[in-house]
Amino acid sequence: MVNFDGFGPEKIIEVYNPKVGMHGFVVLDNLSRGPGKGGIRMTPTVSIDEVSKLARAMTWKCAMADLPFGGGKSGIIADPKTISKEKKKEIIQAFSEAIKVVCPDLYIAAPDINTAEEEMRWFYEANGDKKAVTGKPKDLGGLPHELGSTGFGVYHSTLVALEHMGLDVKKITFAIEGFGNVGIFAAKFLTQKGATMVAASDSRGVVYNAKGIDFAQLEKLKSSGKSVADYKDGKKLPTADIVKVKADVLITAAIPDLITIDEVDGLKFKLIVEGSNIPMTSEVEGLIHKKGILVVPDFVANAGGVISSYVEYKGGNEKEMFRLVEEKIKKNTKIVLENAKKKNVKPRDAAVDIAKARVLEKCKICKI
Ligand code: NAD
Repeated sequence: MVNFDGFGPEKIIEVYNPKVGMHGFVVLDNLSRGPGKGGIRMTPTVSIDEVSKLARAMTWKCAMADLPFGGGKSGIIADPKTISKEKKKEIIQAFSEAIKVVCPDLYIAAPDINTAEEEMRWFYEANGDKKAVTGKPKDLGGLPHELGSTGFGVYHSTLVALEHMGLDVKKITFAIEGFGNVGIFAAKFLTQKGATMVAASDSRGVVYNAKGIDFAQLEKLKSSGKSVADYKDGKKLPTADIVKVKADVLITAAIPDLITIDEVDGLKFKLIVEGSNIPMTSEVEGLIHKKGILVVPDFVANAGGVISSYVEYKGGNEKEMFRLVEEKIKKNTKIVLENAKKKNVKPRDAAVDIAKARVLEKCKICKI
């Protein structure tokens, strides 16, 4: 069941093309700051309910990043594993045609689960407007994922949080949960700044070395298809043990619900920066806060991707993207941490207050 509250969702559009076998929907959560921004999820089980929650998360993320976007998200019910590439293209293009009436004025598409650059090209071809979709290939003015905008933002968020805590980046150790796109870029920039990576994980294990892990070697290993656990000079641990290692900072960059209630007592970090989405429940986040560990919330720290989408939407280039990601992430992390300290609340509560206030300021339909 969709939860309608004082903010939305404003519009839910369900589309169907029986000839193609396309069934999808767009949820436009709150459009007071601009067109709804959010990706297209293609799975056999995607539902309006699931998409509504994701669209709300985008409302807060875009407002927190102070972008002229509202929150949106869409879903197409299909299983890419059981259909041909041609069929997938047909479905995406039928979906794009069907929602053309709202794109890009009310909704701007992007990649999500099972949709990437190529699917965004197909979407654009059927829509004809480059502003209707971000995450496009480079030849269409896209700013590729491989540039690492989110990891770069997570890095800047970490620097601001360390400064807030009075810690010197050159003297800190850090662990990366999920050595993929976000984790690798965050680790790269932190290492370049003088921090020491002591642990990293992927789906196949953890490598830990209190004396430090060589970033370039680990990246080479990972890009050759091996696991971080194959790194020679370190202790190998099971994947889930990344939360048990000793490091000043943990950057989360893989799975949701990473930290459970039972693990809170044993945590040895001073700072956790949420590069991944929802790495812990709100309850766990509260307990960690009580324990005195600073947590920078996901929608503050990992907004680099959506900021990059905005630069692409505006027709900007790579240089402009990196400049804007740095500027916005630094500014927003600082405001959130300062407000949290002032009001003696956890950073997520301070961040939600800021995002809500930014939405309410422009909202004509909200009732709170
Ligand atoms: P990715 O697929 O590039 O990398 C994920 C990494 O996590 C891989 O190395 C994989 O082996 C590892 N992994 C998988 N299961 C794991 C497990 N159980 N424990 C530890 N590691 C595991 O993905 P990504 O783009 O880096 O995204 C990572 C997270 O950040 C996701 O939650 C994603 O939703 C979130 N996020 C990404 C972006 C972005 O722009 N890439 C933006 C916002 C949020």
